[in-house]
Amino acid sequence: MPDYQAPLRDLRFVMDEMLDYPAHYAGLPAGEEASPDVVAAILEEGARFAREVLLPLNQSGDREGCRLEGGEVKAPKGFKEAYAQYVEGGWPSLAADPAQGGQGLPHSLAMVLSEMICATNLAWGMYPGLSHGAADALRHHGTDAQKATYLTKLVEGTWTGTMCLTEPHCGTDLGLIKTRALPTDDGAYAITGTKIFISAGEHDLAENIVHLVLAKLPDAPEGSKGISLFVVPKFLPDADGNPGERNGVVCGSLEHKMGIHGNATCVMNFDGAKGFLVGAPNKGLACMFTMMNAARIGVGIQGLGLAEASFQNALAYARDRLQMRALSGPQAPEKAADPIIVHPDVRRMLLTQKAFAEGGRMLVLYTAQMIDIVEHGSDAAEQERAETLLGLLTPIVKAFLTEVGFEATNEGVQVFGGHGFIQEWGMEQLVRDARITRLYEGTTGIQALDLLGRKVLMSQGESLKVFTKEIHKFCQAEEGNTALAEFVRPLAKLNAEWGELTMGIGMKAMADREEVGAASVDYLMYSGYVTLAYLFARAARQAQATLAEGSDDAAFYRGKLNTARFYFERLLPRTRTHKQAIEAGAESLMAMSAEDFGRGFEL
Ligand SMILES: Cc1cc2nc3c(=O)[nH]c(=O)nc-3n(C[C@H](O)[C@H](O)[C@H](O)COP(=O)(O)OP(=O)(O)OC[C@H]3O[C@@H](n4cnc5c(N)ncnc54)[C@H](O)[C@@H]3O)c2cc1C
Repeated sequence: MPDYQAPLRDLRFVMDEMLDYPAHYAGLPAGEEASPDVVAAILEEGARFAREVLLPLNQSGDREGCRLEGGEVKAPKGFKEAYAQYVEGGWPSLAADPAQGGQGLPHSLAMVLSEMICATNLAWGMYPGLSHGAADALRHHGTDAQKATYLTKLVEGTWTGTMCLTEPHCGTDLGLIKTRALPTDDGAYAITGTKIFISAGEHDLAENIVHLVLAKLPDAPEGSKGISLFVVPKFLPDADGNPGERNGVVCGSLEHKMGIHGNATCVMNFDGAKGFLVGAPNKGLACMFTMMNAARIGVGIQGLGLAEASFQNALAYARDRLQMRALSGPQAPEKAADPIIVHPDVRRMLLTQKAFAEGGRMLVLYTAQMIDIVEHGSDAAEQERAETLLGLLTPIVKAFLTEVGFEATNEGVQVFGGHGFIQEWGMEQLVRDARITRLYEGTTGIQALDLLGRKVLMSQGESLKVFTKEIHKFCQAEEGNTALAEFVRPLAKLNAEWGELTMGIGMKAMADREEVGAASVDYLMYSGYVTLAYLFARAARQAQATLAEGSDDAAFYRGKLNTARFYFERLLPRTRTHKQAIEAGAESLMAMSAEDFGRGFEL
């Protein structure tokens, strides 16, 4: 069975040393409670819960899957008990508003816990995974009565939330939604339609399920401007707020899928189900975005967690597995062969995993500070800046971290050789589980359009400038630091190039809008690599400074420095390919007609 130790040392490095979380928390009204002792206790207890409770259920949940029996879904053995422990431990309410029974801690802490959950049992993590976003959507857009009915239950975890967008004929293009909402005499709505692929749409972990559903009112305008948001509980709350009458929403079937077998992916049939409007009529998509943005960051964290899990197991295997001798001569002459970690190519794979896991962690924790400031900050200008950065970084966190997270899990299989392909070791499960992260919550292609089209070009490059200015300032401040030049020089060059590349796409797009779509995924990956370069340069500065002062833990800092060096020498050059692809433009992509793709055969 794969093992996992929460990366507490690396978390402490990023939080305490690199990003100065103690000062960050001290500057937030909600941060008062997040004293270093409290933070340490939460991380350690979260690590224990993930390793001892969730990890042992990961492989069994994958093999057993979910069952649909008489309209009820049974999650794999042990999932329900683990969820009860999670609720008992107060984990769901960690970062929620005390007014709704939450503990009021900064959101960033919940994100750290989330990494541990995703690393140990992604399928389980997706049962409570959308409750926070559902609560957020209701907190921002719900009526007082809706907040009173649902928020406390979602926050304490007795009820879980879902997000019901997708229909058989529409996923990306929600303007095509057919689910209808007819007003009823009591001021509520009768919701009718079919939603597919609904994560945790039906299960036996919690006493009630709160669906947030997109549907159309009878007189709604066409397309995405005519979508409204409804809250549709599985059991209608009675006068005391407890689950009462069964509502007309049932799970019609479960999807059979490539990974996350332990999570129920449901076809949900709404048959005149009683629903309640959330927010203004026809403004549902904007309300749902509150939930979708949180979920997008959450999916990026899934990519990070799986990369870390795969890395840890590949590393242990590579230290243990004996095959062949090192090219430079035996390294372990007392053994029949050397451990495979001596081979440069195995090291390339391990370092790729390590760099993506550690780089991803820095990106998530950097972005988490922006979320804390947006949610709890007291300075309006600082909040506005954080909101701009958060908007820019959200598609990068979602898509870049899931793309490289998938690559990292794939390398994990390769390090194990043929054993990686065998179920017993659990490495192939990580690849299968990671594959969905590039798809749901908006595919990589859609995140890339959001980044380049909406966030960067629509703001005339202003949102990007907020970030590139910060990088520029860092490079300027370190200009005279010769020890850091190997990082700062290439970073400064790329940072300037990022702006020029963006301008180039913008100019081409004025003549031909297809240029945006043609450049978008390469642009997103380019942006992700530059963003991680900035964070690795900061990590290297920190590691160098600590080593210069002298440290009891020098091996950790040397490892960090070397990982940064590997990243700059071996992964960052991928920006060259992405740049060249971007500059090639749309022509070869758009030259053929749809028919010409067929090479003469009929599809
Ligand atoms: C396991 C699982 C769990 C899920 N959980 C949920 C859930 O809880 N709630 C929910 O509502 N949905 C859920 N989904 C649905 C998921 O969000 C969608 O599958 C996803 O958004 C893509 O939509 P689609 O499958 O309809 O693909 P399509 O929209 O048909 O896209 C197909 C391909 O075309 C590309 N494409 C489409 N439009 C464009 C464009 N304009 N420009 C460039 N490329 C484009 C896409 O990137 C993709 O590669 C889940 C899906 C799965 C498989």
